[in-house]
Amino acid sequence: MRLTNSYAQLPEHFYANVQTAPVPEPRLLAWNEALASQLGLGGLGEDRERLAAIFSGNQPLPGGRSIALAYAGHQFGNFVPQLGDGRAALLAEAISPVDGRRYDIQLKGSGLTPFSRNGDGKSPLGPAIREYLVSEAMHRLGIPTTRSLAAVATGEPVFRENVEPGGVLTRVASSHIRVGTFEYFATRRDVEALQTLLDYTIQRHYPKAASAEQPACAFFSEVVAAQARLVAHWMAIGFIHGVMNTDNCAISGETIDYGPCAFLDTFHIDKVFSSIDHQGRYAYGQQAHMAQWNLARLAECLMLIEGERETYEARLNAFQATFENHYFGLMGRKLGLEQPDPEQDKGLITGWLQHLQNEQLDYTLSFRQLAQRLSANDPARFGDFESQWLRRVDTQPGGRKQAASQMAVHNPLFIPRNHQVERAIRAAYNDDLSVFNQLQQVLSDPYREHPGLARYAEPPGEHEQVLETFCGT
Ligand code: AMP
Ligand code: MG
Repeated sequence: MRLTNSYAQLPEHFYANVQTAPVPEPRLLAWNEALASQLGLGGLGEDRERLAAIFSGNQPLPGGRSIALAYAGHQFGNFVPQLGDGRAALLAEAISPVDGRRYDIQLKGSGLTPFSRNGDGKSPLGPAIREYLVSEAMHRLGIPTTRSLAAVATGEPVFRENVEPGGVLTRVASSHIRVGTFEYFATRRDVEALQTLLDYTIQRHYPKAASAEQPACAFFSEVVAAQARLVAHWMAIGFIHGVMNTDNCAISGETIDYGPCAFLDTFHIDKVFSSIDHQGRYAYGQQAHMAQWNLARLAECLMLIEGERETYEARLNAFQATFENHYFGLMGRKLGLEQPDPEQDKGLITGWLQHLQNEQLDYTLSFRQLAQRLSANDPARFGDFESQWLRRVDTQPGGRKQAASQMAVHNPLFIPRNHQVERAIRAAYNDDLSVFNQLQQVLSDPYREHPGLARYAEPPGEHEQVLETFCGT
């Protein structure tokens, strides 16, 4: 087990030392064994009581050192100069024996920190279960994301609108450095700290930028590209992050902070689930635009170190091309195109989306049903789009057969649908983990059928629809 604490070696005002709060009765609800071994944590053993004690914060992680990170952030466009980890503790960084990379191990919901403001530092169990399911599903769907190592029920009530059981989630991330981390020092005009943060972040995430003529600008370009690719993935899978504040925008390009996020059921470009997103700022179709808004805030920080506004503007403008390239590539592959061409196939792809929206069709299942049209003889099911698409498929060397096998591996059958995630949470609140476990099972291999569990692929019935999602913190 190789644990390090490199962030804690940074200057003192980058973080605060914290002590996690003891909880009465920690119970391990989920333990991600595959991830643990990927992180080289096998040495922790398999004693579930010990694991529950460590990953609730009751016992220290051997070799760890608990800190809460300082950061600021624009929340729904409004700048807050000090946010920071108000209910999280970074325990350590593990160096993975598999890929040699450094990963943060962080508890979420482990008690008060100097950044807690009016909060209690705790988390209800519901959001912990939600993040566990959704983040691991995203990983299996091939989307850059933080991961979940453990979910623990604390045995302690947490007071929100209702009294809820408490929970602690263990999050694993390439790092927890956000756009908001840069903003924290920029707003204080602490250029020395900004430079230190930049050097550390370049070293950790984009080491090639270190040798560029203008390292800060080169670094910025890398972050722009990573965000463009990330949002392209979200759009292609039908994911709405829901709270793309700059403090929830990771420099690594991983999806972070599964609060009010949701997957589309029926397709609509303006879809919003989050109860706090009154203006639709973070609607499904706004995400590429909002990522660029966040990156502009990062550029403003970096300008204090190096480069002119125009240099950053030009680099930010590269977002759109990277995004479209990636997005139309992903979408083309979902439509069975062997070599999707963003220019040539753009019309076909947007035509498909228009059809889904007009007919209010389920986003995820429609791709699977479309694939079945490759071997069907009955009248078209997807209107004029269908014949246009079949003509395009028929021009390909691999023909319909190749398209069908490609579609099967690019279009999941299972996604973490909101109504199922909520069912899993409700059952867990009644000490029943069966829904949670079954959902984990189908989501761990989302592209194939799971006999007996087909209901998890279904869209919500009329009375099951989840209309709103909550931060739930
Ligand atoms: P989030 O909405 O999860 O991105 O959190 C935004 C900010 O609110 C972060 O600084 C969190 O640490 C803080 N926060 C959220 N929930 C709590 C809580 N229960 N106690 C203390 N701070 C919290
Ligand atoms: Mg956050």
